[in-house]
Amino acid sequence: MLESMEMVDPSKVIEEFEAMTKDAERIQRETLKKILEDNGSAEYLRDQGLDGRTDPDSFTACVPLVTHKELESYIHRIADGDSAPVLTGRPITTISLSSGTSQGKPKLLPFNDELMDTTLQIYKTSFAFRSREFPLGKGMALQFIYSSKQGKTKGGLVSGTATTNVFRNALYKQAMRALQSQCCSPDEVIFGTDFQQSLYCHLLCGLIFREEIQFVCSTFAHSIVLAFRTFEEVWQELCSDIREGVLSSRVTTPSVRAAMLKLLKPDPESADLIYEKCVGLSNWYGLIPQLFPNVKYVYGIMTGSMEPYLKKMRHYAGDIPLLSADYGSSEGWIGANVNPKLPPELATFAVLPNIGYFEFIPLTENPNHIYMDAKPLSLTQVKEGEEYEVVLTSVAGLYRYRLGDVVKVVGFHNSTPKLKFVCRRNLLLSINIDKNTEKDLQVAVEEAAKLLAEEKLEVVDFSSLVEKDSSSEPGHYVIFWEINGEPSEEVLAECCSQLDKSFVDLGYVSSRKVKAIGPLELRIVRRGTFQKILDHYLELGGAVSQFKTPRCVGPMNKVVLEILCSNVAQTYFSTAYD
Ligand code: AMP
Repeated sequence: MLESMEMVDPSKVIEEFEAMTKDAERIQRETLKKILEDNGSAEYLRDQGLDGRTDPDSFTACVPLVTHKELESYIHRIADGDSAPVLTGRPITTISLSSGTSQGKPKLLPFNDELMDTTLQIYKTSFAFRSREFPLGKGMALQFIYSSKQGKTKGGLVSGTATTNVFRNALYKQAMRALQSQCCSPDEVIFGTDFQQSLYCHLLCGLIFREEIQFVCSTFAHSIVLAFRTFEEVWQELCSDIREGVLSSRVTTPSVRAAMLKLLKPDPESADLIYEKCVGLSNWYGLIPQLFPNVKYVYGIMTGSMEPYLKKMRHYAGDIPLLSADYGSSEGWIGANVNPKLPPELATFAVLPNIGYFEFIPLTENPNHIYMDAKPLSLTQVKEGEEYEVVLTSVAGLYRYRLGDVVKVVGFHNSTPKLKFVCRRNLLLSINIDKNTEKDLQVAVEEAAKLLAEEKLEVVDFSSLVEKDSSSEPGHYVIFWEINGEPSEEVLAECCSQLDKSFVDLGYVSSRKVKAIGPLELRIVRRGTFQKILDHYLELGGAVSQFKTPRCVGPMNKVVLEILCSNVAQTYFSTAYD
């Protein structure tokens, strides 16, 4: 796809996208036909009784809707070395690990060349639309990207997070060049085994090439915030490395040291300049454009569970725009952000009709606020204003797979829907008739955190759980906060009541009033607690690049629960409904 391409021509890509999205229904039929023809010999499809039929009606009549659980045994057989066509016509040779935020452990998923092609197509599409609005000059990108530990499955297949499989693919680097997105850090830094060292070196590379940096990015926004929070702590050390041309002793991995030493030359002039810029900033506001004078934008996924980091990102970015990236998962890609000018809060994703076959389960709420499923609709049958769960048939062996994401159709780009990410379907706080999603939690935290802002403090990260252990207690919400300082007890008590008041769902409010739900509990955790959660996911084989803080911790997520609960420093109960 991109291998023979020197530079991507944005207008040509946009033209192709326009043509394809004008004919979304036909393209969907063709895409399904191709997927079923390519994989018709796979055991899973042979067993469904399609008998060579490839039309959407036969497909949906014969093949059941599934979740990961139903496919687990097939994927495990592949991972264990069964080389027969199990899910795909051509054997799968690589396994992806999802971030596993919601379940507490990573899921295994198939990865193949076709999925890599769709990844590049998504990159190319959103790049074209971005370039039209925000053209890049000649230069490089400061990409905070990290590889997971790459392992082998029992059957000898390569395994790593989906992003790692993409970064390691030979086509990735070519594509980055074709998309003017070449990473300023050497491979040794991206693939370094110690993420703290890699993060330090990414920052150092960014400073070495500071004049050339055209944009700053990461897969998910969390990594960008983490990087600049770290910068606040290590900036003087970075300056001294540049001044002396000597690499900090904190970088110990030999291959990373060797690669960095090739780039590092004593440059006192640049070190002085960076030093001056840093001391001249007020509370690090506008750090990014100060460090990188030619930066055009900051880019990464900023929607969904990344929205809480927007405030901090805006602070670091100053007057540089934040551009939200595309929508996909380890299972497959879904849509590209083709309106990059919209602020991240309003970002939408236009579904690419040729990267998979898509269905949408209409979600309607019953009187108990529980989602009821209806018959899935095709890509072009969905209605503006409605919410759906996404069902994906991928190019990598997933058929009618329920992704577990709730999206809202907010309009159409030609005949393909534009989706807004709403939430993970299973991430919600609920005790009886109350229902609060990840988004509701985020809004409540934002409201209450305003009281901290008055003290010039902020919530570094947060999570939550539902406590309904004891039969005598009615059950209540528990919110965990890590704060970058020490507010007074009065302020925290106020924050706690404000959190409680900010859940405005009628089920919650009425239950609180009649004491069917107990007072909300705010637990303040020690500094570094959320870093421990990140470290735990990295140990499981996750990667910083795909990390999402679990916003609601279920009882199955034992280790995260233990990390949170064992680091509680203070506890408050709301008096909002006393
Ligand atoms: P993973 O497979 O670990 O990369 O996680 C994929 C999940 O991340 C998706 O199913 C979504 O829940 C979430 N996600 C991916 N892209 C976006 C996006 N642009 N906005 C919001 N959430 C996203």
